[in-house]
Amino acid sequence: MRLLDLLEMNVQYERCVGTELFTSDGRRIVDFLSGYCVHNIGHNHPDVIRALQEELQRSGPTMIQTQVADLAGELADQLCQRAGGKLTRAFFASSGSEGVEAAIKFARGATGRPGILYAGHAYHGLTYGSLSLTDDKNFRGGFEPLLPGCKAVPFNNLAALERELSTRQIAAFVVEPIQGKGVNMPSDDFLPEAAALCRRYGTLLVADEIQTGLGRTGRFTAVEHWNVEPDMVLLSKSLSGGHVPVGALLTRKWIFDKIFDRMDRAVVHGSTFAKNDLAMAAGIATLEVLKSERLIERADALGQRLITNLSAMIPRYELLKDVRGKGMMIGLEFGAPKSLALKASWNVLETASEGLFCQLITIPLFKDHKILTQVAGHASHTIKILPPLTITESDCKWIEDSFAAVIAGAHRVPGAVWSLGKTLIDNAVRVRSPAREKASAQA
Ligand code: PMP
Repeated sequence: MRLLDLLEMNVQYERCVGTELFTSDGRRIVDFLSGYCVHNIGHNHPDVIRALQEELQRSGPTMIQTQVADLAGELADQLCQRAGGKLTRAFFASSGSEGVEAAIKFARGATGRPGILYAGHAYHGLTYGSLSLTDDKNFRGGFEPLLPGCKAVPFNNLAALERELSTRQIAAFVVEPIQGKGVNMPSDDFLPEAAALCRRYGTLLVADEIQTGLGRTGRFTAVEHWNVEPDMVLLSKSLSGGHVPVGALLTRKWIFDKIFDRMDRAVVHGSTFAKNDLAMAAGIATLEVLKSERLIERADALGQRLITNLSAMIPRYELLKDVRGKGMMIGLEFGAPKSLALKASWNVLETASEGLFCQLITIPLFKDHKILTQVAGHASHTIKILPPLTITESDCKWIEDSFAAVIAGAHRVPGAVWSLGKTLIDNAVRVRSPAREKASAQA
C-alpha cells in the first residue's frame, strides 16, 4: 500500500468493463496494463461471465479427481490445435509459476539431464524452481541457495548458448520469446537458431508464453513470429479470461509419455486445483472470444500502428530512446539526455533511485490522462504498454496524444514533471525509513 500511495495509484475501482476501469470517485481510467497480461479479452467479458455462471449452475463434477475431466479434455484439445499441431499433450496448473515447475520436472524426467538454462533478465516466477530461472537479484536476494543446475546465458547470445548446450548436460533451455522485464526483443535469428542448437544437443526448448501467449503479440503464441516449434509451451495469465487462476503446459507426446510411463506413476505430477471446472470453462470461452472477435488480428494491426506512431516521437524528444515490441506488448525506453539542464535533473533522480524517471511518466499519465501503465521491472527505464486486445483506434489515439503531452512536459526544466521527481525522492526517502519518520513525528 505504501508503494501504491507513493505512485499515487492507490485508488478504489468499482466497475471494470473491457478496457475501462471506473473508480469510486467518478474517474474513468483506460487500462493499458491488463494486470500484466491477464485481461487480453478485456475486463469482465460477458461470454466468460456467462460460461462461469452456467458452469456453477449446472452442478456438474468438479475436482472429483477420480474421473476424466471432460472440460479439461476439451480445453486441452483446443489449445493443442491452436499451438500448431506438434504439441499434442496438455498439462494444467494453477498458476504460471506452477507451469514452470512442471516444465523443469518434465524436462529433467524426459532427458535424464540435470541442467536448466535460462536467459539473462528472464522472469519465470517466484516459486523456488521458477525463481531459480529468474535473473533478478531483487527477487532472488535472501532466498538462496536456489535450485542447483540452473544457469543463465545472455539473451540473444547464440555462442554462449551453444557453449552450455554442448556439455550435453542441459535438459532444457527455458526462454520468454519477448522478455517481459524490459520488453527485450530477440534478434531475428535468436529463437530459430536456439531451437536448432537445442535439437542438435538433445536439449528441450521451453517457450514461456505466460505473458506473450494468447494473442498478446499479434500471434496465438509469440514463437510463431519466428516459425519456431518449441518442445513445450507455457501459458497462463489471460487463459481463463481474468477470473480464475490457471496455467497450462503444452508438450510433445514423447515427453509426456516419458513422465507418465507406468500405472504406478500415473499421478507422479499434479495439483489439486489444476483442472478445476471454472478455469477450464472460462478457458474455452476465452479461446472462443479471441477467435470470434478476431482479437489476435486486431492486436497485430493496432500494435503496428502504435509502434509506428510512438516511434515517430524519438527524433523529437531526447529522453525517449526506443519504442519496441510486437502486437500489444510494447515498451518505451527512456535514457539519459544530452542537454545540460535535463542531464542535471536526470542525474539527481537516477542517483536517488535508478529507474525512478519512468514513474515521472506513469504518474501524470494516470493522474492527468487517466491511463494505467507501469514500468517494466526493477530499476527499469522502460514503460510497458499492455492493453486488452479489445482496444480501439480511439484508445490508441488517446495514448499517443497522452504520451506526447507527458513526454513533452518532461523536456521542460523546471517543470511540473521534475517537481514531481523531487516529491517522489522526498517521499521515497520517507518510505524507506518509516521508523525515522515515526521518530520525527513523535519528536
Ligand atoms: N513467466 C512469465 C513470463 C511471467 O510473466 C510470469 C508472471 N508475471 C510468470 C512466469 C509467473 O506467473 P505467476 O505469477 O502466475 O506464477
